[in-house]
Amino acid sequence: METTAHEPLESDPATTPLLELNGVGPLRAERLASLGVRTVKDLLCTAPRRVDVWPRTLSVAELLAAPPPQACVVAGRVLNWRLSRFAGRSSLRCRIADGTGELELLFFNQPWLRHKLVKDQALEVLGKFSAAGAFVVSRASVGGAALPRAGELVATYPSAEGLSANFIRELVLRALEQHGERLSEPLPLEELERRGLEPLPRAVRGVHAPRSLEEYERARRRVALEPLIAAQRRLAASRAAARAAGARALVISDARFETLLSSLPFTLTQGQLALARELRAELARPIPMRRLLQGDVGSGKTVVGALACAIAAAGGAQAAFVAPTELLAEQHHAGLRPLLGRVGVRCALLTGGTPARERREVLAALERGELELVIGTHALMQERVGFARLALAVIDEQHRFGVAQREALLDKGVGVHGLLMTATPIPRSLALTVYGDLDVSLLREKPPGRARVSTHWVRDVTRSFEAQLEERLERGEQLYWVVPRIESSRGEGSAGEEAQAALGAEERFARIAARRWSRFGVELVHGRIEREERAARLERFRSGAARILVATTVIEVGVDVPAASAIVIEHAERLGLAQLHQLRGRVGRGATPSVCYLLGKPSARARLELLERSDDGFEIAEADLAERGMGDLTGLRQAGDNREGFEDPTLDVELVLLARELVREPLRATPTARLS
Ligand code: ADP
Ligand code: MG
Repeated sequence: METTAHEPLESDPATTPLLELNGVGPLRAERLASLGVRTVKDLLCTAPRRVDVWPRTLSVAELLAAPPPQACVVAGRVLNWRLSRFAGRSSLRCRIADGTGELELLFFNQPWLRHKLVKDQALEVLGKFSAAGAFVVSRASVGGAALPRAGELVATYPSAEGLSANFIRELVLRALEQHGERLSEPLPLEELERRGLEPLPRAVRGVHAPRSLEEYERARRRVALEPLIAAQRRLAASRAAARAAGARALVISDARFETLLSSLPFTLTQGQLALARELRAELARPIPMRRLLQGDVGSGKTVVGALACAIAAAGGAQAAFVAPTELLAEQHHAGLRPLLGRVGVRCALLTGGTPARERREVLAALERGELELVIGTHALMQERVGFARLALAVIDEQHRFGVAQREALLDKGVGVHGLLMTATPIPRSLALTVYGDLDVSLLREKPPGRARVSTHWVRDVTRSFEAQLEERLERGEQLYWVVPRIESSRGEGSAGEEAQAALGAEERFARIAARRWSRFGVELVHGRIEREERAARLERFRSGAARILVATTVIEVGVDVPAASAIVIEHAERLGLAQLHQLRGRVGRGATPSVCYLLGKPSARARLELLERSDDGFEIAEADLAERGMGDLTGLRQAGDNREGFEDPTLDVELVLLARELVREPLRATPTARLS
């Protein structure tokens, strides 16, 4: 490649901004940055989501004789077509014939195609039979663009809003051509050999221009490792920085500690007590605590977190208690304020929904050191919240936050102690991997007197099902009715499945409220209901004034109403295992034997049957991990990243562990680790 006098010699792709590439302006650069792609190297390390071998063309007769489950190619001449529109969507049906038979093709949301189709024109398409039996086209040769040949490898790139998969592919190929040569291998060669990894420059070629599926797979491993190594470096650096900064030692007397324990409305379980002692000892050291507390839903983590806050307050410092949803923050505030008030901890709530005046007052009080505890949502991390002497951050349901969000909070005070709590158990290997050297504590037993929750997969809302629920309500029990979406939908036609109406929470609520069940008192909560109103409704449910609460998944984490003993979860097939387990955890918090009804399609059979069988959060988490890959569990995302669909779906734990090892061992000496 020629270099001109204007160009710096050998610009390193790792530091070359994307703006240097043709086709990338400030807007696209920003979009890409939000996906974690900032440099040419990041782009080169964006592997295709998948690579497929283009299938051979089947005749219509072959296709109809044995409809293949996978995508296939068919070709023929156009006979006729018609367009129909429904609820803002369009479908174009086009009949073709190839001499062996006739086939109707279905194109979704491409109404302009009707201007391109001409009778007798040759048409070749890639498509697949939908569950409803329609042949849905995903790629067609209309408009002159020829389809790949049988046996050719076809890569599918990730896409995101404003960045089509095609654009990404073209951009990557351009980057490969212009900068591929300059990519260097950051790892020592012996290391690569020892681990059976390809050098990065070769791997990048292999991933974007593979000659075989095997080559692609081998290359993908090496390429996927790059961002993992970067993430591990960030973790290592922030850990080292935290340690170097030290922390305020929060020391309290034995008498004070006993007073805190005896002010609680119940006796701690053995596990809780052991943890409280452990936390006390750890907070008394001048080294920042980084502890992950894992305890299944209902195991009583909140009070442990609250005790840590009380220790911080008694030690003369401030604490922040952060929850992922406003609803949960409000509930923690409602529960902890009176509890901690008794031992002299002044406490306030701060969420995105806090009115401006109140928020100013809270912020001012925090700065003056007139509050010992603030409970809130991530608004606490985003804003310029100044603390007089923050020494402890408790992060509840921590798996809902990104790495950078957690760090942002922990960085607020120099050397802040951090207690991260989660009900979504993470296998130990993964916890180590993702959180580096976090210490992990387990809370395995539940407080005494808890009834079992039996779980049943229900196919339909039938009369006898309703009668069972009614019987419970008659006995004075309380019921959650969860519907994932707020509004009803006419169903998604996009995948070709004929639209099926799905009831939303609002409509479910209207139906229940219109029924004889209205006499039990029915409330509705979801994310769009204004904060005070939502709190009031939840309070009516908590007090028992309303015995039925229809809700979206806003109640998934933390909501604690011990009297509720039954939960119905509609469209369970749309929710993940861990999420369903969390939702189920809303019941079984009192002494009444509780029940969870999962209404879901057979497509989710495996998941629903596992939930019927197991109540063990750890078992469920492992299964969830196996099912979804690391997905949400990794916490590798940076705050503000919206990598949905951009993340590597095949990312495996083994690779993350490898990245961790590589960062710990040979790279330790390389001074490249820097907090971005
Ligand atoms: P989670 O671990 O899911 O956050 P919570 O902290 O919300 O669980 O606790 C669930 C319920 O158990 C709450 O109502 C809480 O008051 C109660 N609880 C916690 N610890 C004990 C205990 N030692 N004895 C009795 N009840 C307890
Ligand atoms: Mg909780």
